[in-house]
Amino acid sequence: MPAPLIGLTTSVLSGRPPERAALNAAYITAVQGAGGVPVLLPPHLDAGARDALWERLEGLVLTGGGDLDPALYGETPHPTVADVSSARDALELWLARRAVEDGLPLLAICRGIQVLNVALGGSLWQDVPSQVPGALNHHQTAPRSEPTHRVKLLGEGTLLHAASRARELAVNSFHHQAVKRLGEGLREVAWAEDGLIEGVELPGHPFALGVQWHPEDLVGHDPAAHGLFAALVEVARARSRR
Ligand code: MN
Repeated sequence: MPAPLIGLTTSVLSGRPPERAALNAAYITAVQGAGGVPVLLPPHLDAGARDALWERLEGLVLTGGGDLDPALYGETPHPTVADVSSARDALELWLARRAVEDGLPLLAICRGIQVLNVALGGSLWQDVPSQVPGALNHHQTAPRSEPTHRVKLLGEGTLLHAASRARELAVNSFHHQAVKRLGEGLREVAWAEDGLIEGVELPGHPFALGVQWHPEDLVGHDPAAHGLFAALVEVARARSRR
């Protein structure tokens, strides 16, 4: 069977012209390392290109980036909300909802877990440091490949446990927002020591997993991080539409 095509969303860098679509290379190498073929999905795609790509994709990674527009979950923006792109929000919410409807394998990373949650009607902590008393430091200054806090995982019967073969993980952390009210149908599967939700799944879907950390930067150091990409690609390959 051919290697599955795995879509990867990108950021928009618009602060200084020219506008760019951008993605940390670690996502690309992590998908390739797991046997998938990365296909970049910038917010600049028009509906025709988006739909044509959708028909060909066999898996999807929603990547990290700036904050979602809080209006999408019915709130006014906290002063710290930054790097909002309405084009990116629109594309990723569309992709998340289609992946849920069509049973397309989906790994949602950092901003991605937040997109998945909001796509299903959930809400976010807009600024963990100022809104969640007693929260850990979730925005590390240490290198991206260095874990700085632990997460506890739900055990048997979850995708996250099957993919990581762990009950506890040491993870990196680069977020000031987090899942607050859970989206419809989602299940919590991992928590930081301060109780923040760090992992969610959608029971009944072939593979819809969201993590609040950045496994793409831990691949090569931690077999559990590679395991998440390997599990995504394995399900994508099994469900290959060609
Ligand atoms: Mn964290």
